[in-house]
Amino acid sequence: MSTQQITCPLCQHPERKLAASWAEWEDSLSRRPDGPMRLEAGRACGVAAMAPDLMECLACGSVGMSVIPNGEQLGQFYSHYHMTDGFVAKAGKKVARARKRLRLLSLIAPRAGNGQRRFLEIGASIGTAAEAARRMGFEAHAVEIDTDAIAKGKELFPQVQFIEGQVDDVPTDEPYQLLYGAEVIEHVPDPAAFLRACHARLDRNGLLFMTTPDCGHPRRPKALLDWHSVKPPEHINLFTKAGMKALLAANGFKRFWLPPHAKPGMRIIARKT
Ligand SMILES: [Zn+2]
Repeated sequence: MSTQQITCPLCQHPERKLAASWAEWEDSLSRRPDGPMRLEAGRACGVAAMAPDLMECLACGSVGMSVIPNGEQLGQFYSHYHMTDGFVAKAGKKVARARKRLRLLSLIAPRAGNGQRRFLEIGASIGTAAEAARRMGFEAHAVEIDTDAIAKGKELFPQVQFIEGQVDDVPTDEPYQLLYGAEVIEHVPDPAAFLRACHARLDRNGLLFMTTPDCGHPRRPKALLDWHSVKPPEHINLFTKAGMKALLAANGFKRFWLPPHAKPGMRIIARKT
């Protein structure tokens, strides 16, 4: 079964307005290079039959699907759609980019009592950020749902410890000092539950770092469907900073920083207290 979302799933405001209908979304696909693939994958997984609209929250301005696809539909969608080959080709560059980002995070992440630090990359694909963290002295773990990506990651980065599944599948017995989720939360059917699962796996004062598209960014294309980050059901929620802050605060993260960013992408650094 799929879940209809009336209230904003991010800030809980009771009213959202229509931002774009599913028919308008399908029409817009004729203008995109990835259009034919998206049209086919959306129909094959059964999401197109539900025709979910894109709704905009009247309070926080975030945009999300009016009907949340279920796990089976999302599994079907992703089985039509593999990005892993591109990730492998760019692996070296991605490790270097993650390393740059990790420099600041490494300075402010806490240490465990024994001086060690555990790092978990969420939605890791082949685990490039986990590998970057390992090279910086973290004990590196990566959780990923796609078995194909894990197989390639293990081959490229044999010292990263891979876990198959989602963040809920990561054991809670030993906490992490740093969680890293790049371009993940917009894919998640229940982002509140996702943040609670992250919170439960963090050490005291541990850090959660995330990136996600910024729906409220001044440089976002004015016409919603001209924005390349709009891609249901791959992206379920497109956050504004207001939507993100509300969701963080409601799910255990009272201290966070959303630094300014030149492009319509958001960076989030949240600390568990
Ligand atoms: Zn909202």
